[in-house]
Amino acid sequence: MQDIKYLPGVGPKRATLFAAELGIRSVEDLLRHFPYKYVDRSRFYYLHEIHGNMPYIQVKGQILRFDKIGEGKNLRLSAIFTDGKDTIELVWFKGIKFILEKYKPGITYVVFGKPAPFNGKFNIVHPEIEAATQQNIEGLSGLQPFYNTTEKMKSGFLNSRAIQKIIQPLLHNLKNGVPETLPAFLLERFALSNLTESLLNVHFPKDAHALNKARQRLKFEELFYIQLSILRQSKWREQNFKGFIFGKIDHYFNTFYKEYLPFELTEAQKRVIREIRTDVGTGKQMNRLLQGDVGSGKTLVALLAMLIAIDNGFQAALMAPTEILANQHFETIRNFLGDLGVNVALLTGSTRTKARQELHEKLQSGELHILIGTHALIEDTVQFANLGFVVIDEQHRFGVEQRSKLWKKNAHPPHILVMTATPIPRTLAMTLYGDLSVSVIDELPPGRKPIETFHYYQSKRQSLNQFMAKQINAGRQIYIVYPLIQESEKMDLLDLENGYNYIRETFPMYKVSKVHGKLKAAEKDYQMQQFATGQTQIMVATTVIEVGVNVPNASVMIIENAERFGLSQLHQLRGRVGRGAEQSYCILLTGYKLAADTRKRMDIMVRTNDGFEISEADLQLRGPGDLEGTQQSGLPFELKIANLAQDGKMLEIARRTAMEILESDPTLDKPENRILKNQLSKLKTNNINWGIIS
Ligand code: ADP
Ligand code: MG
Repeated sequence: MQDIKYLPGVGPKRATLFAAELGIRSVEDLLRHFPYKYVDRSRFYYLHEIHGNMPYIQVKGQILRFDKIGEGKNLRLSAIFTDGKDTIELVWFKGIKFILEKYKPGITYVVFGKPAPFNGKFNIVHPEIEAATQQNIEGLSGLQPFYNTTEKMKSGFLNSRAIQKIIQPLLHNLKNGVPETLPAFLLERFALSNLTESLLNVHFPKDAHALNKARQRLKFEELFYIQLSILRQSKWREQNFKGFIFGKIDHYFNTFYKEYLPFELTEAQKRVIREIRTDVGTGKQMNRLLQGDVGSGKTLVALLAMLIAIDNGFQAALMAPTEILANQHFETIRNFLGDLGVNVALLTGSTRTKARQELHEKLQSGELHILIGTHALIEDTVQFANLGFVVIDEQHRFGVEQRSKLWKKNAHPPHILVMTATPIPRTLAMTLYGDLSVSVIDELPPGRKPIETFHYYQSKRQSLNQFMAKQINAGRQIYIVYPLIQESEKMDLLDLENGYNYIRETFPMYKVSKVHGKLKAAEKDYQMQQFATGQTQIMVATTVIEVGVNVPNASVMIIENAERFGLSQLHQLRGRVGRGAEQSYCILLTGYKLAADTRKRMDIMVRTNDGFEISEADLQLRGPGDLEGTQQSGLPFELKIANLAQDGKMLEIARRTAMEILESDPTLDKPENRILKNQLSKLKTNNINWGIIS
């Protein structure tokens, strides 16, 4: 691979910048640094042609005058620009002094930008301006590429234009052809253009059609190799990792099922248990993701699966992301099991040394059947006699490394069931967890009433208070949640404190609990307990109560500053209510001025209770990198050109194709597949490991 250092216009300094800022080292890397947008430079537009929803365009003309408008934070610079016939406003919010020094009225400029409607007219915010030269006036070309750079790169004079100048000559040389990275049979089958042509047209497209064709090919390639890599890894694992065989269903499972189960399982729960039973009976190691909306009864499924492990002489562990949740699982499971004779223990950060000692001994002697806890579970000092099954609740809070520790707790890795109430859209699951089996509980236990959701402005607080009083007088309980984000923790806690005081003053006759992450564990537990047992009527909290907490009598969830929460977080919070027989409500409170995206989030919440629909919408609104549930663990790779929110269909085709190929040639040794094998190992050495997530 050719180092970019030697390219004209690069040199050692810029090469270092490229590598440090964008991970670009070779010519190949550079060619796969695709533009993020294009400006139509095929012609100059007239101002009267401007209409809604145009791409980046170029216009030619002069600035008539500058005006500074507003002051302080609201200061903006406005320029009236004319093409000789009509005018349009150019607007800057930053760099005003620089603009005024650099650009003068009466000189002919070429202006690039994206016109946007404002107050019934169009303007262009932060346009790019160049003095008109013979080259930019007459050298009209197709679409001009724009490349991502960083602040550091820009201060090293590596802006988009500079990158374009480095890439352009490369493409001339390319015309002789670059080695193809997809086999001919795939190019033919899907009518994809070859790599040389695609690279040419993605960087300097003649027109929109050529660009589109190039992008199709490059997207397919990207998605296809991800799938091929994941699927091959999963095959490899199947062959090389033996799993414990749970061959029988015996005393514990059967007795529990017949005599202890307080209700009939839903069909979905039964189906998932069958799926798990089949998996753990095969001798391969199970890696299963269990998706089920809040309240769908995942805990019970986990418990039944753990009982199968115990019936086969193994121990089981259940790991929860927070102490509150671990406590609650412990209580729930102890209650379910009653006097069945299964030994269950709880291990968290607050477990005392002495109790811990005892627990360790019982764990090693095999006396303890089920261990429930937080990440305290995976510490090296925690040794099992024979760990066979691990349940991880709310997987996204655990890092990949923590999970891999679990694997080392026995001679073979235990079977793993990962439970999540943040449903992951299909396309994302396929990419991230191509290697996992997925089970879905798509049915709520009978008798649940769908939660009604309302979006109120803060101004409605009076009538909200009346509503709250009515609910409490009817015997219900209420959650009020405040946002808490790291950066402004102090102010957030102040908000919570003020809110708490306001509630105390407004409802002096009711008792109020308060929970946030800064409380000592014992105090938190006490407060939770007070609320769970109905001693307090209102719970004021931060998102620490987001996950899993179960108080069936709570029927109202009020979310303050709902604009500051993401969709799946809102949905999670809403899931804290609607767990009993009573009608439940979720109230989203926001300010009056909302960004368009925020308004959409509120509308979706009001419209639907369906977690899958919500996570799809989340993916569309925020893009996959931002999706809750992936951002904590981080996508294990970065997509350069494909977009999971838009290219779901193509992803499915890519996956099916990869499957077919591996089916007929698992080791990719057939001559026509050699190119695939080479490409995969190249991607591996570039440290792209798509399989790590599971
Ligand atoms: P999840 O963890 O999926 O959000 P839980 O496991 O906490 O949901 O279950 C929510 C509530 O529903 C619990 O009180 C649980 O006991 C109850 N539950 C679970 N399965 C059933 C069922 N089949 N019928 C009735 N209630 C159920
Ligand atoms: Mg749960």
